[in-house]
Amino acid sequence: MVPGRGAHEKSQENVLIAAGQAARDGRIHALTITDNPGGRPAMSATYLGLEVLKLGIEPLVHFTCKDKNRNQIESELYAMDRAGIRNLLVMTGDYPTSGFMGRPKPVFDLDPVHILDLIGKMNKGLEIIEPKGVTNHQPGDFYAGAVVSPFKATEAELLLQYYKLGKKINNGASFIVTQLGFDARKFHEVLQFIKNLAPQIPVIGNIYILPFGAAKMMNSNQLPGSVVTGKLLSELDQERTAEDKGANARLLRAAKMYAFMKGMGFDGVHLGGHNIKYEQVKYIIDKGEELSADWMKLIPEFDYAQPEGFYYFEKDLNTGLNTNKPINRSTLPLDCPVGINYRFMRLFHQLFFAPDKNLFPLMSRYYNRVKKPGKYGFEHFLKVIGNECKDCGDCALLDIAYLCPMSQCPKNQRNGPCGGSYNGWCEVFPDEKKCIWVKAYSNLKKYNEEEQLEKSYISPVNWDLYQTSAWYNYYTGRDHSALIKKADKPDK
Ligand code: SF4
Repeated sequence: MVPGRGAHEKSQENVLIAAGQAARDGRIHALTITDNPGGRPAMSATYLGLEVLKLGIEPLVHFTCKDKNRNQIESELYAMDRAGIRNLLVMTGDYPTSGFMGRPKPVFDLDPVHILDLIGKMNKGLEIIEPKGVTNHQPGDFYAGAVVSPFKATEAELLLQYYKLGKKINNGASFIVTQLGFDARKFHEVLQFIKNLAPQIPVIGNIYILPFGAAKMMNSNQLPGSVVTGKLLSELDQERTAEDKGANARLLRAAKMYAFMKGMGFDGVHLGGHNIKYEQVKYIIDKGEELSADWMKLIPEFDYAQPEGFYYFEKDLNTGLNTNKPINRSTLPLDCPVGINYRFMRLFHQLFFAPDKNLFPLMSRYYNRVKKPGKYGFEHFLKVIGNECKDCGDCALLDIAYLCPMSQCPKNQRNGPCGGSYNGWCEVFPDEKKCIWVKAYSNLKKYNEEEQLEKSYISPVNWDLYQTSAWYNYYTGRDHSALIKKADKPDK
């Protein structure tokens, strides 16, 4: 359900009529509601969730990071908890594109891993540290899930998606929904990956009733993260010459996807489409159930590999899907060349910042003697030249192969890439700038250290530190690295 812009629009009424029909069907467990999709304003997904709840069916509210800071996120969660909205699908969200009098300010104060962490803590009763002592709020009752995109063409992008998925699960994601795609082997891959990692987590496959117009946009990367290959596009081009303009073929394709997802072992499906009607959903479920007995026969029809596309597991030549053996990645070439800047930064870091080594103890003694940090002009100069530093003061350069998520990632992602990268390019600057996470993966892979990106959890920026010396904050344990160091050395 896409709420749309405005408060009394016909499309919104239609959404509610469809919701009522779905509620009466009994086989549909929840209705998903998008949160300012496409980075444009729309009616609040939370509010529409309330309306859906009144119809007697569970809403699954998309909860994105793009338009609200951490306090607004907390406020909205309290409102939802009080209203009985429990199911949330947490995601980064599209980059804001348009709004009143121009493009809005992108917020991205927290990333999805942080939001899941916050929700998990709220479910236990959020601990609030106040001058008078610590208080715990009443526990919340959220069931929060996350998304993952297996439809990535390059090794770095795919591994980074899976690394971030692991962090989402570790921070409380209770179910996973896949991105849009049409390649059966990829659906099988992501299901197998999650079942190997966390067998208890339900996985929901995404099915989109695909018309030619949307396919064309997806094929040219205008709907970030959704992948339609040239082969599928030409099939749709052919289908639209039929009398019904391809309407039946679209629905049958969706039903076949339902069938193979059920056969593979997905725990459910998410059905979507433009102006989707309840009758279409019903057809897909009925037909999909009928076809699911013979689902393996459908697999060859969904061979939509991306050119040179990377898969996590080796191919099973008998089924066209995957074996359970990961591909040997060590001999594969890097996605990006490793620049001189990285080599220099590595050396510089080893000398000054590697905990307890080389010049670290000296620097630490110096900074810990300083009562009040003074101007940090030299540090600022070096970091602006080398890393386009924005002086957040809670520096993540050490965690992301010396790339800055505050200046070089438009969505300020601190725990892994968003789902919008395409062939290694950033969602916001396609064909112009590589995603910093893809660069970080390549830099680290050069030294067999890429798995470092899988493990670290980087907390959100502490804005108390804004425009202060990050070196001072690092050596005196004021920034997020103190938590990482503590986690590395558990209390005896
Ligand atoms: S740099 Fe990567 S993570 Fe950041 S917005 Fe671009 S694609 Fe997304």
